[in-house]
Amino acid sequence: MKLSIHPEIHKTLRPLTEQERTQLEANISEDGEIFDPILYFDCVTDGKRYLADGEHRHDYASRTAIKHSYKKVSHLSTVEQTIEWLKKRQAGRRNLEKAEIRKLKIGRAVTEARKNRTETSPDPVKSVASEAGVSDMTARRYEVRAALVDELASAVKKRIENGSISVTDKELHALSQYKKKDQSDIVGRVLAEEVSSLTEAIDAHEDELATEDISPTDNRFAKAAQDYLANHKTSIAERRQLLELAKSDQVSLLKFMADQKIRSIASGLPAWEEGFSSPQDPLGNAIPEHLISLFENDPLDSLKPPLNAVKTSVAAQQSNPYLKIAVINESIADILRTIQEAKPKVVCPECKGSGCQWCRASGWMPAWAYNDWKAKH
Ligand SMILES: [Zn+2]
Repeated sequence: MKLSIHPEIHKTLRPLTEQERTQLEANISEDGEIFDPILYFDCVTDGKRYLADGEHRHDYASRTAIKHSYKKVSHLSTVEQTIEWLKKRQAGRRNLEKAEIRKLKIGRAVTEARKNRTETSPDPVKSVASEAGVSDMTARRYEVRAALVDELASAVKKRIENGSISVTDKELHALSQYKKKDQSDIVGRVLAEEVSSLTEAIDAHEDELATEDISPTDNRFAKAAQDYLANHKTSIAERRQLLELAKSDQVSLLKFMADQKIRSIASGLPAWEEGFSSPQDPLGNAIPEHLISLFENDPLDSLKPPLNAVKTSVAAQQSNPYLKIAVINESIADILRTIQEAKPKVVCPECKGSGCQWCRASGWMPAWAYNDWKAKH
């Protein structure tokens, strides 16, 4: 897009230091696109289209082929207005950045103190809180906040850290419920000044989702799913749930529904997911994938029938006065006991299946080993 740069606006925009420019370009290439839209307005005085904010992004975009977007700030119509708006915006951003950095620093310090805690060290929340001059409750709140921020899409995280957007704890919780792609879309609405708060952006995002029509022929559906959708009435919510699944899972779900004679995705999906819930050991711990077949079908079990057959055959030799049947039976009983002692009972409660010295690196324990472990814990 062809944008004019107004000299007065250019003066208002703070030039970047060399280091800031390098950082900006590094951020952009990490994001793979210019995430924040370049803002412009149409000037009523001279009829020209001027850049309002994002001079460096605009410059970078015009030099490269990187993906970028433009957004018109519709409440601006003159240069003077824009300069006022920019100044307010910059001051707001600086204050927000300072405040946010402080919150995150305190929150992360609490987490760090928790991690490094020893028996003699003071309460991690209390010590960080008193040092920072905030209440224990505030320190704990900041810890939750930092943990949530650190889990967000990286482009979103960066915008919160540098004060580009303001976000309340409540909004942060709401935002973290979304997938990363949706988080970026929601925050993008605020950056583009489409809405004035994250709460409004989340509402707008929800509204859009509600009206979004997903066609049965959408190629994110597996072929079998397309056929199903063409022949069954489905709600948008159901189509969306189906889209959350990989194509192979869509096929598996629909086959399950056909087998179980379940008509709607809404009732089929929970039942299908239930069927995939992971098996548990007697302690109620999930059996990890690599141990399931061992727990369900222990190869040692196959030794029992031939041993019992030996016992039967030996019993048939009663007439042989030299054969010590009792000794043989005793030996067989011994072997069976030995096998029993090597039978998986629980997933190793120490390492949860990954292997440790308690479970001889196997990830599981027979009953006696578990009792041993329990006695020492
Ligand atoms: Zn272990």
